[in-house]
Amino acid sequence: MTITQLHHLFLAHPIVSTDTRKIEEHCIFFALKGDNFNGNEYAAQALEKGAAYAVVDEEKYHTSDRTILVGEVLTALQELACFHRNHCEAKIIGLTGSNGKTTTKELINTVLAKKYRTVATKGNLNNHIGVPLTLLSIMPDTEIAIVEMGANHQKEIAFLCEIAQPDFGYVTNFGKAHLEGFGGVEGVIKGKSELYDYLIANGKSVFMNADDSIQLEKLGSYIRKYGFSTEKQDYFKIKLLGADPFVHLKAEDVAIQTKLIGSYNFTNCCAALLIGKYFNVPLTDIKQALENYVPDNNRSQLLEKNGHHIILDAYNANPTSMKAALENFATMEAKRKTAFLGDMFELGTTAPEEHQKIADLAADMKFEHVFLVGKNFDGTNTSLPTFDSFELLSLHLGEHPIEKSTILIKGSRGMALERLLDIM
Ligand code: ATP
Ligand code: MG
Repeated sequence: MTITQLHHLFLAHPIVSTDTRKIEEHCIFFALKGDNFNGNEYAAQALEKGAAYAVVDEEKYHTSDRTILVGEVLTALQELACFHRNHCEAKIIGLTGSNGKTTTKELINTVLAKKYRTVATKGNLNNHIGVPLTLLSIMPDTEIAIVEMGANHQKEIAFLCEIAQPDFGYVTNFGKAHLEGFGGVEGVIKGKSELYDYLIANGKSVFMNADDSIQLEKLGSYIRKYGFSTEKQDYFKIKLLGADPFVHLKAEDVAIQTKLIGSYNFTNCCAALLIGKYFNVPLTDIKQALENYVPDNNRSQLLEKNGHHIILDAYNANPTSMKAALENFATMEAKRKTAFLGDMFELGTTAPEEHQKIADLAADMKFEHVFLVGKNFDGTNTSLPTFDSFELLSLHLGEHPIEKSTILIKGSRGMALERLLDIM
């Protein structure tokens, strides 16, 4: 079957599924393969559950007139998404960066939805499968699609750009994340810049943080750029009024009080403001959208439990976001402060050095308590208490509960530090 024919089927059945546990009636099921599963084996089940068609890539599963045999299911999904993108009217905004992609994507979406029919990446589906799925969620009446693009190695963003062909793009930041796969910070800059490279090569527009020296260097002479800055002339000026605990900012005499914790969320808001303004969303609507947005999924949430004020930022961590979180925590007004910091993953050979730097920084901050947990932190040379595992920390807290405190919880996803909430 050609991609044109497959697209024809898709237009008649515009819902795509890759998971038989979440089959929707009349969808097209794509039988993807993973390290531990072969989607082909589930094709028949998908049809039984109501899928209109199942796309498979093994002859033996091509068993009915509702199975479609292709060379490779993943490639077919990506080609279909690209074809669909080329036949839709929507403008595409691509988004990448080391930290803050999902938050910024949600913020841009809530702002643009004030004036336009939008679609955006669901959750964190930002890879070589998620990006095609996002593109295939574009409907004939969609005006703007906001597509999160994630990467942990070179050429990945370039590849996603080939599929999504963004009309606009924004890089949240170039930080110390996925250092292992990218080959150090220089590698991160190169890899994440692939979005800007694509846009520049194709004469498209870029959004930028004009206070970020790396972005300025990269985009300085490019004409089609729109930036925000806290002080530079020629850019959309936005001021940070405060972040204790929620980001409070001001643009064109309009003050905006968000429900986002952490000064690092300031630039995420700025991007949404800039993009909203570019697309002529009234500033009062932008304000309303930003003020109503509440983060979820353990991303910088403020919780109250048994008298503790808890900043739960257990969704993820890398050296850049860990440093930003600690610095933000240090500026907060509170009598007693306690930080629980969990290991940062995917740092390769720089892991010992990066954990040592964070341990030193946390020790310098003189919070009442800092608990470091994980094998990497346990290997640092520090005066702070360290725990090889969550279980050991948990035992310690059972014996020595902490008094009512303002608490920061941050660590990589694999550390699942949100478990602390159960024992607070
Ligand atoms: P992923 O790589 O998992 O897709 P992401 O880039 O989508 O992550 P978010 O999920 O938005 O990022 O945020 C994850 C965490 O990163 C937040 O909880 C916060 O600690 C931190 N963070 C968010 N924005 C920034 C930023 N602009 N600079 C530094 N750290 C940030
Ligand atoms: Mg994300």
